[in-house]
Amino acid sequence: MPRPLPADAKDLAVLTDDAVLGKAARVNGDEAHGIVAFTFDDGPNPETTPAVIDALEKYDVPATFFIVTQRIVGKHGERGRELLAREVQDGFLIGSHSVTHPNLKNAQGDQIAKEIDASFKTLAPAVGRPIGLFRPPYGALSGAGRVRLKKLGVTEVIWSIDTLDWRAHDADRLRKKVGSMIEHDHGGIVLMHDVKPITAKVIAQVLDDLEAANCKKLAAGADPIIPVSLHYFLKDGDGKKAQARAIPVDVDKRTAAYKAALPERCAKRPKEEAPADESAAKPASAAKSDHPVGDFGKRVDHPKPTPEPAHSPCLDNPLAIGCR
Ligand SMILES: [Zn+2]
Repeated sequence: MPRPLPADAKDLAVLTDDAVLGKAARVNGDEAHGIVAFTFDDGPNPETTPAVIDALEKYDVPATFFIVTQRIVGKHGERGRELLAREVQDGFLIGSHSVTHPNLKNAQGDQIAKEIDASFKTLAPAVGRPIGLFRPPYGALSGAGRVRLKKLGVTEVIWSIDTLDWRAHDADRLRKKVGSMIEHDHGGIVLMHDVKPITAKVIAQVLDDLEAANCKKLAAGADPIIPVSLHYFLKDGDGKKAQARAIPVDVDKRTAAYKAALPERCAKRPKEEAPADESAAKPASAAKSDHPVGDFGKRVDHPKPTPEPAHSPCLDNPLAIGCR
């Protein structure tokens, strides 16, 4: 755990001095496979964030909240601060998502100070510990912004699974899409927005689907896609020399406990959830499936994520149509 923040900490370097999460190479979600980390941006929102936290806790899923810090200041930020306190208390990771959520692709001195530095000055004291994670709004950050993060020792975190929940209108479609993206990429870092009513509405179902899919995998002797915290995606160094950062003991324990408890969770799942064999045997779904009926129950070789996933243009140019 990061060491607690001194009560009088004002120095930015102290506010961002997180040896566990900070100082890692830029994270894009391709660093690890077979695990999935959920991240929620733009909150907290008193109308929607509580349902997201409730769902995560019901399914024992870790997550990171990237906070827009103007939501936790002043009188109007009172409930936001309470929600942030709950997120911290309940063990979720917290990162900065800037002060006002501007596009920082051309950010220079003044804007960097107002949006990046100032966010840590608000967030670290509110959380009570240093902040080591920053997610640029729209995934866009200028070279000067990157230099600033590096100087502060803050890890820049992007994503690999862009659910586009912010523009979704059909809850059921969104739910299914998130599940199939996690499956297709065999895990990664999922981007969602806890400020969106549709996300608050579907997240429990998304997590239930993930659990159900994992139970099917277990039953078939395959490896489940384990929900984990961002720690598992952190690397030190660049390029081929990058080394996965060691997982803290308490984090590792939590993941192990989740894995150990999964068979029991599966056993407790409602029986009306058809097991894999039965659902596969339905002619309608079998006809649409990529896999012949006979393949169900066998270990499936997951297609390796392609080097250029379909959503990668958003990483290069988050302003492209459909990117955020
Ligand atoms: Zn955002």
